[in-house]
Amino acid sequence: MRWQDGRRSDNVEDQRGFGVKHGVIGGGAGILLILAVGLLTGADPLSILGAVLQESGSMDNSPVVLTAAENQSADFVAVVLADTEDTWSAIFTRKGMVYTEPKLVLFKGSVDSACGSADSAVGPFYCPADEKVYIDLDFYNELKDQYGAPGDFAQAYVIAHEVGHHVQNLLGTSAKVTRLEERSDETTANRYSVMLELQADCYAGVWAKQTDNTRHFLEPGDIGEAMNAASQIGDDTLQKESQGYVVPDSFTHGTSAQRMKWFNAGFTGGNMDACDTFNAAVL
Ligand SMILES: [Zn+2]
Repeated sequence: MRWQDGRRSDNVEDQRGFGVKHGVIGGGAGILLILAVGLLTGADPLSILGAVLQESGSMDNSPVVLTAAENQSADFVAVVLADTEDTWSAIFTRKGMVYTEPKLVLFKGSVDSACGSADSAVGPFYCPADEKVYIDLDFYNELKDQYGAPGDFAQAYVIAHEVGHHVQNLLGTSAKVTRLEERSDETTANRYSVMLELQADCYAGVWAKQTDNTRHFLEPGDIGEAMNAASQIGDDTLQKESQGYVVPDSFTHGTSAQRMKWFNAGFTGGNMDACDTFNAAVL
């Protein structure tokens, strides 16, 4: 991905320099709330909660020293965020709508959001209540080493997926789905969650295509990196790795095949209309 010459967004809130007290605000209820909003994966909620509970109560006020690699990651994220601002603003304008830019919060360890407090173990997420994307950049190492999804465009896809949730929030889709989920049994609610997540993947594909149309930022292998990332964080792949078997009714983000299919559906034509996961005959 050609990113160095891109514009940097002003909407990055860098909170990595502050030590955060664990377990002061939010607690278990906050963490559960986070799990209900726009996470990137549906991986292991119980082990995530375990990690959070183990850490709560500890305090860390030591100053955070950032490495050159971490600063470069932050620079990269600022370019990707700017590309989402430019591309989604143009798409909304063509629809006669106004795109409100989300903030992106960089944090280290844990963070407080309007959706509750969260540990970096939950991975990147979007909080509709404050319209902010939250990411601990250490996730990019996990993405490469644990999930087997290296590459700068895999990293860009992560941001684009979360911004996809922001688009859903602006369009009222997220609120509609939350209302549906509240009236549904768990299996049905999970199905709505999958539709919402696959649509965010599709919007990430729309963003990739439209940004490339204007800025020609894609390099050979980039789309492959995004498709591989979408595949590696599919519910079936993650469940097979963590527990050795899959429980389709418990899926909240879609299978590897579905996540690749919907990213590609958005990327192929660069058209949001191709992202109607809610009325698709087959997901
Ligand atoms: Zn998501």
